Amino acid sequence: MKQYLVKPDTKVNLAKVDPDDTGDFKGGKEKGLTEIEKLNSKLESLQELLFAEHKHKVLIVLQAMDTGGKDGAIRRVFDGVNPAGVRVASFKAPTPEELDHDYLWRIHRQAPGKGEMVIFNRSHYEDVLVVRVHNLVPPEVWKKRFDQINEFERILAESGTTILKFYLHIDRDEQKERLQARLDDPTKRWKFRLGDLEERKLWDDYMKAYEDVLGKTSADYAPWYIVPANRKWYRDLVISSVLVETLEGLKMKYPAPEENLDGVVVE
Ligand code: AMP
Ligand code: MG
Repeated sequence: MKQYLVKPDTKVNLAKVDPDDTGDFKGGKEKGLTEIEKLNSKLESLQELLFAEHKHKVLIVLQAMDTGGKDGAIRRVFDGVNPAGVRVASFKAPTPEELDHDYLWRIHRQAPGKGEMVIFNRSHYEDVLVVRVHNLVPPEVWKKRFDQINEFERILAESGTTILKFYLHIDRDEQKERLQARLDDPTKRWKFRLGDLEERKLWDDYMKAYEDVLGKTSADYAPWYIVPANRKWYRDLVISSVLVETLEGLKMKYPAPEENLDGVVVE
């Protein structure tokens, strides 16, 4: 999955990244789903270990355009993990209280503690995406945020947080289909807002903003992955693979019991 990793300080051109890509995975959807199931049970064990060891903290950031598949990916990739140790934090337009503070205030308090895995559904990156595209703060304010975000994430990383960031990459045509599907399906309509159509008109501005985010804030301690996301199964496969591989790399161990239990028998 290394081909989706964004190297630090690069110029990203999203037009050159194929959202239909399925890499060198030859099996197609059916085999992909089988593979995801295997990764899923690995993730279950790894998450149990993370919780038991109570040492590492894991932060997963998901960003995407509307209908990009953040909710779907969370449902699929984390299917079956123990909710006691996994949490989703969703970031919407800031509340008045949140706006009274700096933009990282609401973010930092949701960061994972030891043994915990937290998934950010949107994140502090909205503060250089929607905020930039809609001129919610002047350029001299949001431009400083790339460095600020890098430093913030460095603090988390140097305090034992493993950070993984995924941008789910769909194209404009795929979004059209998915928005239309939301309109047509009574069980999906609740997700549709007329404002989504206004946002869609700003597609190119968003792509430019995403290119800056990906190019300026990918670091070895907090890498971005550009995930081809037109095909949902491949999107989930990429995220699962990266996550499992990263957690395996932590070489976690079950803690030893606090007392010597040799020879202890339960009567
Ligand atoms: P949804 O993910 O569809 O529930 O939508 C959440 C909305 O909140 C999106 O339109 C985001 O752009 C918006 N949002 C999230 N964070 C911010 C932020 N920091 N400033 C302004 N809008 C935001
Ligand atoms: Mg929405």
